[in-house]
Amino acid sequence: MPKKTIRDIELSNKRVLVRVDFNVPLDEKDGQMVITDSTRIQETLPTLNYLIEKGAKVILCSHLGRPKGQRDPKQSLAPVAPALSSLLGRPVEFSDETTGEVAKAKALALPPGGVLLLENTRFFAGEEKNDAELAKGLADLAEIFVNDAFGSAHRAHSSTAGVADYLPAVSGLLMEKELTYLHDELENPERPFVVILGGAKVNDKIEVINRLLEKADTIIIGGGMAYTFRKLVQGITIGKSLYKPEWEPIAQAAIDKAKKLGVNLLIPVDAMITDAFDFDAKKLGNTKYTGVNESIPEGWEGVDIGPESVKLFAAEIAKARTVIWNGPMGVFEIKESSKGSFDVAAAIAENSSAKTIIGGGDSVKAVKKAGLADKMTFISTGGGASLELLEGKILPGVACLQEK
Ligand code: AMP
Repeated sequence: MPKKTIRDIELSNKRVLVRVDFNVPLDEKDGQMVITDSTRIQETLPTLNYLIEKGAKVILCSHLGRPKGQRDPKQSLAPVAPALSSLLGRPVEFSDETTGEVAKAKALALPPGGVLLLENTRFFAGEEKNDAELAKGLADLAEIFVNDAFGSAHRAHSSTAGVADYLPAVSGLLMEKELTYLHDELENPERPFVVILGGAKVNDKIEVINRLLEKADTIIIGGGMAYTFRKLVQGITIGKSLYKPEWEPIAQAAIDKAKKLGVNLLIPVDAMITDAFDFDAKKLGNTKYTGVNESIPEGWEGVDIGPESVKLFAAEIAKARTVIWNGPMGVFEIKESSKGSFDVAAAIAENSSAKTIIGGGDSVKAVKKAGLADKMTFISTGGGASLELLEGKILPGVACLQEK
């Protein structure tokens, strides 16, 4: 999979179109749109600084929000230009036009090291259809295409993949890091390799379970999907915990595969249970912990792993040399049922001799909420893209890049 990166090509004086992920959260204040979290802008700085240092003329494009193919001032990328400018310590020009004469004139006027930000690619209906005209229009502005938007790489859109039909395409440094940790490192991981998977639904995670069963020494299953496994393996009843009859054969196949491959499949042995659960109000009813391998009573449901499961999982995590975690152990958005996820995050953080990779989505939120982000080797910026990469799928925004 090694793809060419910006380190492999000549950049001096070249107009370089960079697809970034500037899909930042915005809030309206006194009639103006204000960025409430600039993490995604900061994540692009290594790539942008490298390009600037090499004397490239940097043209940035991104989507923001879901404007449904129409101009919407509330989803304009305009507020990102001054924010980026202060992070880079240099001017950032903004173009209201994403393609066409005005954008082209601005691109041609850039000095080496100059930066131009184009308006939201999703103001055009063609973007999400991977329309060739839009892709050509973007390509017309530049001489090289760089994809650094890992979070959008699982989508075949004009600005993430289509544009590579018309320009030499390489990866940015953020994209490179994501591919290294979520793909290359997992091909030949240092062992023991422990995979921790959580989240709500068995069917959402089964492809990841299947693929990582072929690579891992231990797979730990937590979250809502664990109850199907517990029902099958421990023979307990699970009350009204998350479960669907059609998940049973899927889970059973994973259990059989683990046995066949000699993979240690660890599932929770206890749970925090509640008799009422309102996700929107972030409220639980009465709560208590079950005993080890104890059934969950009728009318109650599991919302987190219990302390004995944490002990079991932490002991395995402590022995690992590579750990990857995707999906929370419970309903971590509610304080009472967040402990299992935070304890697992802490166990991962404590293993300083392992490569620790947080593979996207809600586990990233849990690690950040636990204040442990700087203790991890790598935290993915992708949600859907991370999951698809871990499933072994080919991402269109990666496949279109030149091989090394
Ligand atoms: P996913 O997007 O599949 O990774 O699932 C993440 C979601 O699963 C989070 O919103 C969690 O609140 C939810 N979740 C985790 N454990 C449970 C559980 N035991 N019951 C219901 N939802 C859960």
